[in-house]
Amino acid sequence: MSIKQLVEEKFASLFGGDGRTFASAGRINLIGEHTDYNGGYVFPGAISCGITVTMRPNGGDTVRVWSVDFDGMSEFGLAEEDLPEQLWARYIFGVCRETLKRGGKVEGFDAVFAGDVPLGAGLSSSAALESAFAFGLNEVYGNGLDKFTLARIGQSTEHNYCGTKCGIMDQFASVFGKQGSLIRLNCKTLEYKYFPFNPEGYRLVLVDSGVKHQLASSAYNDRRHSCERAAEAIRKRHPEVEFLSDSKRIWLEEVREEISQEDFLRAEYVIGEVQRVLDVCDALERSDYETVGELMYQTHFGLSRLYEVSCEELDFLNRIARRCEVTGSRVMGGGFGGCTVNLVRDELYDGFISTVKSAYSEKYGREPRILDVVTGDGAREL
Ligand code: ADP
Ligand code: MG
Repeated sequence: MSIKQLVEEKFASLFGGDGRTFASAGRINLIGEHTDYNGGYVFPGAISCGITVTMRPNGGDTVRVWSVDFDGMSEFGLAEEDLPEQLWARYIFGVCRETLKRGGKVEGFDAVFAGDVPLGAGLSSSAALESAFAFGLNEVYGNGLDKFTLARIGQSTEHNYCGTKCGIMDQFASVFGKQGSLIRLNCKTLEYKYFPFNPEGYRLVLVDSGVKHQLASSAYNDRRHSCERAAEAIRKRHPEVEFLSDSKRIWLEEVREEISQEDFLRAEYVIGEVQRVLDVCDALERSDYETVGELMYQTHFGLSRLYEVSCEELDFLNRIARRCEVTGSRVMGGGFGGCTVNLVRDELYDGFISTVKSAYSEKYGREPRILDVVTGDGAREL
């Protein structure tokens, strides 16, 4: 049974009749890591797994939502003080509140939803959840909010109701994604452009280290401060440098003696990464996936040695990929744990998967989770 059938049947049995059904997607980011807060590019795409929801206004002022995956109901009103208990319901409550704050209409409705994005694996299941509801409510109530606003609704939900200070990338990709495409987003201007991503003869696979992001938040703040200090030093000579991503490599050289060695290395990574996103885009327009893969390895090197946000397990997974002649491999996401994303030629796939599983279990005593991903469509009505 498809997820669509599943949620529609559950809806009929709980509430009777049918609603309208919407879906949205999780996301990957092929390249462009730690560039967002430096005003640089990210390069995400929606994936084929996501969240599917059936919904219908119920004429009252209470929202009733059934989560198939958590096997439970949440009922809440739409005023600020009606924040529900369950974390999963807070995402939905947040989307309602943020829609109302932007002048959209939301009244009581009934909904059933389910998903197939693995939770907490770095594929942004939370953005998929927000986007599915933001898109669906916008359609059901005819609010006419544009897609950027829908992405902002998801982002503000994370900030204001779920305690995650995220950027716009996840929700952007989840709303705007298209099957067969990745999207280059300029985080400073919010200009974006679709690029074809049809890696025929290759597979994209995530290998989950199972390591949790422990150091992540303090290290993240340290990295941000390093970048700000480097940008400030460069700005004294080149006032046009608003964000670090505006700087050229040679401008960074000019201030080498004025900043710490550590800040220098952090900045070197960021400036290199912004260029790598552009190089990947050029390579994709020629369908040159070997170059894309090489750039992914360069990103991993930079994240590990210059930006220092990798960890032993992720470096190990990266080395195994190299040894198996995988085309490209790098840590995906903020670092300190999570997955590597790997671009693997079809004929090497089986060998890589069995080698990485056995080598990782031998060293760390547990098998890494393997997740195949393909691009998919973002928010839409089914
Ligand atoms: P991720 O990196 O996957 O976005 P988060 O911790 O940000 O991880 O978001 C995961 C949370 O999103 C879950 O704890 C849950 O509250 C909600 N969520 C995601 N997918 C589902 C689902 N299929 N059903 C219910 N809630 C979900
Ligand atoms: Mg999330």
